[in-house]
Amino acid sequence: MNPFAYSRPTDVDGALRQVAANGSADAPLASTPGPTAPPDLAPAANAATPAAANQYEVRFVAGGTNLLDLLKEGVLVAPKLVDINRLPFDRIEETPDGGLLLGALARNADTAYHPLVKERYPLLADAILAGASPQLRNMASNGGNLLQRTRCYYFYDVATPCNKRTPGSGCSAIGGVTRQHAILGTSEHCIATHPSDMCVALAALEAVVHVQSVRGKREIAFAEFHRLPGDRPDIDTTLAPDELITHIALPPALQFAGHSAYLKLRERLSYAFALASVAAALDLADDGTIRTSRIALGGVAHKPWRRPDAEALLQGQRPSPELFARVAEALLAGAVGRGSNDFKIALARNAIVRALQVAANGTVTNWNVSTPDLGGQQ
Ligand SMILES: Cc1cc2nc3c(=O)[nH]c(=O)nc-3n(C[C@H](O)[C@H](O)[C@H](O)COP(=O)(O)OP(=O)(O)OC[C@H]3O[C@@H](n4cnc5c(N)ncnc54)[C@H](O)[C@@H]3O)c2cc1C
Ligand code: SF4
Repeated sequence: MNPFAYSRPTDVDGALRQVAANGSADAPLASTPGPTAPPDLAPAANAATPAAANQYEVRFVAGGTNLLDLLKEGVLVAPKLVDINRLPFDRIEETPDGGLLLGALARNADTAYHPLVKERYPLLADAILAGASPQLRNMASNGGNLLQRTRCYYFYDVATPCNKRTPGSGCSAIGGVTRQHAILGTSEHCIATHPSDMCVALAALEAVVHVQSVRGKREIAFAEFHRLPGDRPDIDTTLAPDELITHIALPPALQFAGHSAYLKLRERLSYAFALASVAAALDLADDGTIRTSRIALGGVAHKPWRRPDAEALLQGQRPSPELFARVAEALLAGAVGRGSNDFKIALARNAIVRALQVAANGTVTNWNVSTPDLGGQQ
């Protein structure tokens, strides 16, 4: 591990002043559309090109569960670490509109088991509990979860070319082992996936990321927070180099609480990243028809994947396996395999249908002792 300077400020301004050394992007880099990305993912016309994300002078450290591995492996170098664990962002609070404000430093475990998260956002609680291990969830922070790096094997292997780690060096995954890699929104420069489970639920719940820097505060819609790789795969998000995530806001979503499901498919039952995952939430009318829906996919793209046009197919319809299969096709339109991940297209298709069926039958949680009637559709 390279030597680094370490500080542990207790005030927000002090922390922000230190990270200001990274500079700022006047207009943060926009989400870059892949070949199949829907129109709402189009980049802003004034998208700027910030410095390579792996060369920041100063880095925040929260739980350290991803950053320390990257530093130890030599994937990143950080001459200066600013430990943010003393900053006042570890609370989970109600908002007047019935939503919640999740502190960036609240731990993943505390978030998943918070009574209001379980009651109002069981989809989020389930997604968090599907990730990592109890020990990691006790340490991992909400802000850090959003910024965890890809699990592409080549990214972590400094002996191999990787455009995300070393821009311009090439992509070892293209033509290499791709079992975990993306099938949607890829570019010729990178086919990595975003590894978070929590973020898939946050995408479906249309969370808003609150950030702060010495320049002020701003809010980033979750759909705009993570990027597709385009020609800058080294940059994962639209967060500027000098910005701190302070909170994640959850808009009211009680209409989905009774019919949501997070389905994660992986190589083993726990402690593995998703090959494909689905966050599905349905708002059902009294007559059983679907009023609105949200579906986000994990493990298939460089960011949680949504297609509003696919979700619109459900509106006003009665749940059925045939309808869910049509939605799956629309969500996966343009999906392309790269050899050893070809199987992901069928896997994701089946997972979408299954998650929608489970959601239609009622929310199944990891913490309920009673088993709901699944109507024989499992
Ligand atoms: C063995 C293993 C298995 C795992 N399995 C899963 C899994 O199945 N599913 C899953 O979703 N995750 C999984 N994870 C990832 C884990 O969830 C993340 O490592 C964790 O959420 C990162 O949070 P952290 O607080 O430890 O972040 P850190 O490691 O402290 O930081 C990560 C990055 O975020 C930045 N950062 C942190 N907080 C802020 C902030 N508030 N503002 C700005 N920048 C910030 C840091 O500078 C750093 O760049 C696994 C991790 C490990 C080690
Ligand atoms: S897929 Fe992306 S992260 Fe993996 S080797 Fe290629 S450029 Fe690097």
